[in-house]
Amino acid sequence: MTQNDSGRSGNSPVGAEASSPGAGSAAPTLPHSQLRSSGGTPNALRNDCPQPVSGNSFHEMWRELLPIGRHADSHGYRRFAWTGADLDCRAWFKEQAEARGLVYEVDRNGNQWAWLGDPAAGDAVVTGSHLDSVPDGGAFDGPLGVVSSFAALDELRGRGVDFTKPLAIVNFGDEEGARFGLACVGSRLAAGQLTVENAHRLTDGDGVSLPRAMEVAGYDPDTIGADPERLARIGAFVELHVEQGRALDLSGDRVGIASAIWPHGRWRFDFRGEANHAGTTRLVDRRDPMLAYAETVLAARREAQLAGAVATFGKISVEPNGVNAIPSLVRVWLDSRAEDQASLDAVVGGIEKAARDYAAAHGIDLDIVRESFTPVVEFDHALRDELGRILGKDTGITVPVLGTGAGHDAGILSGSIPTAMLFVRNPTGVSHSPAEFAAEDDCVAGVIALADVLEGLACT
Ligand SMILES: [Zn+2]
Repeated sequence: MTQNDSGRSGNSPVGAEASSPGAGSAAPTLPHSQLRSSGGTPNALRNDCPQPVSGNSFHEMWRELLPIGRHADSHGYRRFAWTGADLDCRAWFKEQAEARGLVYEVDRNGNQWAWLGDPAAGDAVVTGSHLDSVPDGGAFDGPLGVVSSFAALDELRGRGVDFTKPLAIVNFGDEEGARFGLACVGSRLAAGQLTVENAHRLTDGDGVSLPRAMEVAGYDPDTIGADPERLARIGAFVELHVEQGRALDLSGDRVGIASAIWPHGRWRFDFRGEANHAGTTRLVDRRDPMLAYAETVLAARREAQLAGAVATFGKISVEPNGVNAIPSLVRVWLDSRAEDQASLDAVVGGIEKAARDYAAAHGIDLDIVRESFTPVVEFDHALRDELGRILGKDTGITVPVLGTGAGHDAGILSGSIPTAMLFVRNPTGVSHSPAEFAAEDDCVAGVIALADVLEGLACT
């Protein structure tokens, strides 16, 4: 199903192709005050939200951003860190900041900031997300949070609120890790979770290092590194993000609050056998690592299902990689995530045991290496409860609290500052693909929820 499937009446696709019905060009342009429904925000987080609820600034920004880095054939986004498409997105961010009279700055790690109020005053409320994408990613993962942040600020200015704390909007660099293979580089550097030495070792598929890529893009790579002074200015960080699953669709809610990011990791499995002729080698004489691997894939599915977790073999490299050759090596990568550490240990332990048993049965040597691991991230409980209280205040609605299997900058920052996340419904449940989707009304409900949260945190 494409994202502009017309079967959803009343849910015009904000992320649709520019040429499709309901795309940005056809979006209604309403007076700014109609970002809020006439009766305030009753039921704005539920399906029965009164119409129309919309916002000029959101739609204008969305239309501007939509074509940048979109591939003509795949219709997916290729906004990789420090490439032309990323730089175009960054130029767009700067324009938005300046158009609103915000103080624009780039930090020592290349993250972009737009400040309302004095950054040095401390206890700032920060919101934002990222603008880069995975290969052939969707329109919403990242940009929805950045666009909603600017739109929420416009909404708050429309309400005429008085800010008692500095407010900032941020675009974290290289969140997806599509180019250099490590996610959340900008926030990791700032939080001191990626050393300068290791950042210098990151290279892309063409052998270009991260510092060189920054330099070519016109940024100074000599300044990268932990930025505790900057983080110390922040009292709370709230990231709005498209949901990367269907929990909100199933519960009938437009917006949810994140509880935690599941623990997750990557493991490399090397199944080594013996290369031989595909036509002349008898089956009984083979040491085919593909067989042990294939059985391991099925075991991974069983183990994940048992634990209510997820396990994915999504990347494979085969040697010698010939159609008429039995492989000598099958190298695969497992990504697994679960709600808690014990479940993840059980899933991965079960997969490893199965892989070793199958390898032994087929005469295959097996090495397993854990390449990365991120423990569970519990978002700040007090801030999470505060968001629930703010969002339920006028509506009486209890906003659902959800866990997620996806990593985010908010997860990285949660080790240094109180962080929270808002999720906006994604009825396809699909993410990291052009089919990623959020309905126009839901996006606007997200903007209003974010504005309510920012008002509650920065205006009291
Ligand atoms: Zn994201």
